[in-house]
Amino acid sequence: MAVRMAGKPVVEAVYRDLADEVVAIRRDHGVTPTLAVVLIGDDPASATYVNSKRKTAADLGMDTRDHIYPQGMGQGELMALVAELNRDDKVHGILVQLPLPKGLDESRVLESVDAAKDVDGLHPTNLGRLLIGKPTLVSCTPAGVMAILDHYGIALSGKSAVVVGRSRLVGKPVAQLLIARDAVVTTCHSKTPDLAAVTRQADVLVVAAGRQHLIGAQHVKPGAAVVDVGIHRKPDGKLTGDVDFAAVEPIAGAITPVPGGVGPTTVAMLMRNTVTACKLQIGAR
Ligand code: NAP
Repeated sequence: MAVRMAGKPVVEAVYRDLADEVVAIRRDHGVTPTLAVVLIGDDPASATYVNSKRKTAADLGMDTRDHIYPQGMGQGELMALVAELNRDDKVHGILVQLPLPKGLDESRVLESVDAAKDVDGLHPTNLGRLLIGKPTLVSCTPAGVMAILDHYGIALSGKSAVVVGRSRLVGKPVAQLLIARDAVVTTCHSKTPDLAAVTRQADVLVVAAGRQHLIGAQHVKPGAAVVDVGIHRKPDGKLTGDVDFAAVEPIAGAITPVPGGVGPTTVAMLMRNTVTACKLQIGAR
């Protein structure tokens, strides 16, 4: 039976360290790491995510500033808000909750966030730094994937790693992080002709395709470590992933569950990025 790579122990270890760091920053610099959260529209899932981020930040002794607006906010108004947060030296991290309502240009907004405050790691400068192997603020879900692999001691150097998905949000940054750790990386996408033939080569398989149960037993090499980034809500209201867990668990060496795998680590990485951004801005070690 595969090792179940739950996110909770990973997250608990990160939060223990961060809580200590926040105390030290306050003591040594009189500064509280502060995250500004921008939420536009009334998407219930986004509101839930924002609440959980706010609560986690408070539990860690950090501050959050909410900027919550109803649907209908214009591009210019949103860009002006981001510019104001960029200038505010009491704000160390800026999170623009995605997806933005239709009519708002996500790329333009993300690119207008000061790269030093881009705790989502999605600014071209931060993605570029990742590409050249000098990451500072790494996008949260890819960083969470790496934190899970590390926590469970999954070997990467010289191993065959296959990433299913090439999005800016997940697939591409994960591939870069795996390359930086000396894995031999292949990226698959919707035009990959024989997906199973490629994924079956993987010692480490990371799946971020956004297709429920795309990956079954026939896609997995016996003993492989499988990380499932996908999140889907089934008709019964329960969550499931891109990997058919019941089919793959008997074959894999290790596997993340959905829910309870990558999901919780994403928020933890956001908190870590906010503390990192704060330390860089105030010149703390
Ligand atoms: P996305 O932007 O839709 O990208 C999906 C990627 O998968 C694309 O590159 C696409 O290929 C590829 N793909 C789609 N169908 C495929 C197939 N049949 N075979 C191989 N590749 C295929 O999605 P995303 O933002 O990366 O998110 C992926 C999943 O992760 C979603 O379920 C999302 O909800 C979840 N997610 C979870 C978290 C978390 O915190 N756990 C965070 C972010 C996202 P093309 O490029 O060719 O279209």
